[in-house]
Amino acid sequence: MALNGIFSRRNSDRSGGATRSPSAADVDRLALLDQFEESELGWFWATDAEGKLSYLSASAAHRLGQKPEQMLGTPLTALFLPDELEDEDRAERPFAFQLRARSTISDMPVRVSVAGTERWWSICAKPQLDRENEFLGYRGSAKDITAVRESQRDASRLAQYDSLTGLANRHRMSKRLTATLIAYKAAKRSCALMMLDLDRFKQVNDTLGHPAGDELLKQVAQRLERIVGSKGEIGRLGGDEFQVMLPDIDDRGRLGEIANSVIQMISQPYSLDGSRAIIGTSVGIAIAPYDGIDTDELVSSADLALYAAKGGGRGQYRFFSSELKDGARLRRQIEEDLRDAIQSDQLELHYQPIVRTSDHKVTALEALVRWNHPERGWISPAEFIPVAEETNLINALGEWVLRRACRDAVEWPHSLRVAVNVSAIQFSGTDVPKVVRAVLDRSGLEPERLELEITESVFLGDPQGTGIMLKALKKIGVRLALDDFGTGYSSLGYLSSAPLDKIKIDRSFVAGLTEDENNNAAIITAIVSLARALKMETVAEGVEAMDELDLITKLGASHIQGYIFSKALTHDALLERLLEGGLQFEPEGPAKHRADRRSTFRRVGVIHEDHRYEVVMRNLSRTGAGIEGLLDVPLGTPLVLDLGGGQLAVAEVVRSEGYSQGLEFEQALINDGADGLCTRHRISPYALASAGMPLAALPPGSYLPQSRDDGPKSRPAFLQVDLAQTNRAA
Ligand code: C2E
Ligand code: CA
Ligand code: CA
Repeated sequence: MALNGIFSRRNSDRSGGATRSPSAADVDRLALLDQFEESELGWFWATDAEGKLSYLSASAAHRLGQKPEQMLGTPLTALFLPDELEDEDRAERPFAFQLRARSTISDMPVRVSVAGTERWWSICAKPQLDRENEFLGYRGSAKDITAVRESQRDASRLAQYDSLTGLANRHRMSKRLTATLIAYKAAKRSCALMMLDLDRFKQVNDTLGHPAGDELLKQVAQRLERIVGSKGEIGRLGGDEFQVMLPDIDDRGRLGEIANSVIQMISQPYSLDGSRAIIGTSVGIAIAPYDGIDTDELVSSADLALYAAKGGGRGQYRFFSSELKDGARLRRQIEEDLRDAIQSDQLELHYQPIVRTSDHKVTALEALVRWNHPERGWISPAEFIPVAEETNLINALGEWVLRRACRDAVEWPHSLRVAVNVSAIQFSGTDVPKVVRAVLDRSGLEPERLELEITESVFLGDPQGTGIMLKALKKIGVRLALDDFGTGYSSLGYLSSAPLDKIKIDRSFVAGLTEDENNNAAIITAIVSLARALKMETVAEGVEAMDELDLITKLGASHIQGYIFSKALTHDALLERLLEGGLQFEPEGPAKHRADRRSTFRRVGVIHEDHRYEVVMRNLSRTGAGIEGLLDVPLGTPLVLDLGGGQLAVAEVVRSEGYSQGLEFEQALINDGADGLCTRHRISPYALASAGMPLAALPPGSYLPQSRDDGPKSRPAFLQVDLAQTNRAA
């Protein structure tokens, strides 16, 4: 028989001339084809007009686990597994469709099942027509391309996925983000982007080794997958940088919650081949189209937000806001100027008393650094310490602070100690005990009068090295205090193992202590009793109001630091105060802690009907605000407060007296991650675009049209008071 397969009679009758005897060349050709089929380099097949097999190479039938005769009459499409195409094939039209359309098919991949495993074949086929152009069936070939396909797939996987964690890599994330943003722009949908950077990953890598670092990254990826799930897509951009794309979420309340759970999950301890490691993460969030329209813009906004989050300290998230762009410029400036500042005497130390709860006598003074910038005036340490930490200037600055504080303390009554903040970076960069010993020697201050305030983060990088340094410091005779307790990783483990003399309970537990709905009192009680058991003192930080003082006293903190006794004083003012009043301090402050009400003096816009007014906002809380500048606004008047950056808060007047009003928001504001408040939603750039503005990310400030130019204008309902004048009067 010619060709090593099975022909149905009908097909061979029709196509071949039955009576012609084969020439020598024909015989050679058939032999070659036989060999080709046997070699399994490829197979041949043919169908009738109904698409049923009329020929199939015997070796192909064997592959499929069938006898060649059994295959005849089987529809061709029945050989193949149903279309279940992956992403990259989706553009192709299904095989069955092409067959029905009787098109020529070239190199079409199809799936077949061979002995229970899936293989890929590539199919070529040409429709056969008779002289009257009537369709007779297909003739075609097939070959197995599984190996080629798999190696292609591996290569494209390698190019698109991070081999360590299995997450999408930078290339794929960027491609996905771009595709999503283009599609979403057309559909007016939103898409949030989170950038993550692990805190202290480098230390784990350096101290526990690279295999442990790799394992850590894998575990981080798994935790992220557990939180993000089907809500979005996660990528590892390289190193310890991760990215999460969250389509269709623009509610900043929800995003803040997601960011919080990411931070909490990542901050849980890791077990790495017998060692324990703790890291943290900072999160920057930007949302399209508000903070960026295209990939580059959105990514750079998320990057800036991440940078701000890291500057804010451990384990925080930040939303992008257009002010951050100025912030980045300012930071570079600070970095440049700070070098000079240390040398040219622009830094100063102010001292805040820490008083004993039982008799309100000062026992120690915390040195707080201040920077009097020649052009910018006073700059807060909260602003420049993080910059110093990033640039290693912290070592020089820390040494300066230590020297100055010890030198000043020598002039104080002997019972008073000086407390100096030491950054965790200093522990990893310098030999702290050596520096401390040298400074003490030079100033002549007794070691027991120096107290070093360290934060929990010193235990995270290299716990052993830190342990050795702390022991060395104790040997010198200085005291150690754990600062900001409760804000960081709050592992009680090192409380018992580290040689600490004092725990400073962070201000955030004291603020809100007197409100009903939180367990701050329970937390403080727990810390106080633990500290007592470990024979440590406790300092409650940030006590401002009488009711807070009463409660803290009841809860048993041994010491108190806060505005209720004194703000930080210049060294001269401190000496004078001690001379006049001795060690005794009297509490002085508001009777009650005011619930989360921040005093601000921001100019904001108020919209009523189609008029926009400028007012001054005096305070802002989650649920409302106090404004000044409109005269006699009736109770119940609906207003919209324009807080800038596209944030509109719908409100109602609930208090009104002369030119000052109290507003209550329809929807409560949320935490912006930076100790501030923001609205859940903002004006959508899509809405602005449909009102005729170009589609762009939200610009800074407020930019609602002052008043609409078109149509008849109503008279403004309220008289706007000249704020400059009233402020002068106040
Ligand atoms: P910290 O160590 O937690 O210092 C306490 C901060 O809380 C100080 O802010 C202090 O003025 C403020 N404070 C004290 N009592 C109250 C209160 O009743 N209410 C409120 N709202 N705040 C109160 P400051 O001076 O702005 O310092 C901020 C942070 O900067 C410090 O936080 C510390 O982490 C860092 N810092 C300051 N000086 C140094 C320094 O010399 N070296 C290092 N490494 N860090 C420093
Ligand atoms: Ca401190
Ligand atoms: Ca503190």
